[in-house]
Amino acid sequence: MKKQLTLLMAALLLLSCSAKRAAEKTSAADSDVNYSEFFTGKTMRFDFHHAGNSTSEYYYFDRVLREGEWAGSQVSLINPFDYGEQHFRIIDQATGKIIYKNNYCTLFNEWQTTPEATSTNRSFPEGVIFPEPKNDFTIEFFARNKKSKEWEKKYSQNIDTEDYNIKEGKRPYSSADIHIGGDIAHSLDIVLLPDGFTEEEKEKFMGACNMWRDALFAYAPFTQNKHRINIRAVWAASEESGISKPGMNEWHNTLLDCRFYTFNSERYQMTEQFQKVRDVASCAPYECIYILTNTDKYGGGGIYNFYGLGSAGKTGRTGEVYVHEFGHSLMGLGDEYIEIGNTVSALYPEGVEPWEANLTRFVDFNGKWEKSISKETPIPTEIKEGTTEKDWKIGAYEGGGYLEKGVFRGWPECMMKALTDFCPVCQDAISRYLDYMCK
Ligand SMILES: [Zn+2]
Repeated sequence: MKKQLTLLMAALLLLSCSAKRAAEKTSAADSDVNYSEFFTGKTMRFDFHHAGNSTSEYYYFDRVLREGEWAGSQVSLINPFDYGEQHFRIIDQATGKIIYKNNYCTLFNEWQTTPEATSTNRSFPEGVIFPEPKNDFTIEFFARNKKSKEWEKKYSQNIDTEDYNIKEGKRPYSSADIHIGGDIAHSLDIVLLPDGFTEEEKEKFMGACNMWRDALFAYAPFTQNKHRINIRAVWAASEESGISKPGMNEWHNTLLDCRFYTFNSERYQMTEQFQKVRDVASCAPYECIYILTNTDKYGGGGIYNFYGLGSAGKTGRTGEVYVHEFGHSLMGLGDEYIEIGNTVSALYPEGVEPWEANLTRFVDFNGKWEKSISKETPIPTEIKEGTTEKDWKIGAYEGGGYLEKGVFRGWPECMMKALTDFCPVCQDAISRYLDYMCK
């Protein structure tokens, strides 16, 4: 979990995942994968338990499932963005070729930074999805070294695609279209999931889904990309209405076990039951998951390529927070805000480049927004008194990633800082990510 946030705004804008960028680049040759040669067209899911403590991590196999139609790109099969704390690869055993790779972060990664992880071992259910290979394959998991942030291989397993233990995933719930922009292969497919809504509260959930869509499309660059974004909602009722608040001794029996007080942070509302989340998500074609919870209490979070979560209750600025958290969960955008007086952070240590596209320490600025800064713009860039947005230039403004000094952002204000429009740096990074996802 990212560190406890002290400012009011900081408290509202929970989090992505902690991590730094390292130097692994995927070779161009690896991305030359013929989809129809290697894949069946369906989705495969590998469930496991991610276990350990603050200094160790282990992967324990659970099961393999065969799910619905593959909703991702049939061209972009090797994720070239070096985001996240984890990545996995699928290797065709006959040829030794990497045929799929994707990056992500997890709740386990965040738990590893909590005080509890220094004295306790825990396991978290996890699962990754990928296009179902036609032939026997090996799945390999990588995590970043805690200090150097270089990738290290952590686990490898061979899968026989004709193994009768591969389970056919059940899809018991129906889905509804909230917005359809294009076909699933060439669009970003988002699925919205309910938690804490009873059978009688279906309309309330569907109303929240429409609000989520309207909030997303109110912000560039999502506005201009409606034609290649699909949003679907899976409807599944919870036994009880509301969301658990352990710190207030309030518990509810709900579909996805979402709760406040995750890692003892009141506003950090998440679920540790990620396989349940995947079970419900699989009822629609999807790449990105966002959970809407039936509560008026403020809180939520977003973890890169894992899931985003927000309260569907009518509190102030709900739509903006939905979009902020989606920035974290879609592509791991970092928080650009500052905690006054904060000078040291384990999340963004000196000498290590943040892997997030919108933050830099100038250790490895290459490929971020350096080409958008004109030669006349001084670095670091100052916000001149009395200027407004029309006077601002893309530059390197000091402060970001909760730190006052040493970490730089590209623009004075942003959705990832103060819930305003996405800054030009974030807009450009999101557009490039959408180009990749929608190929
Ligand atoms: Zn930004």
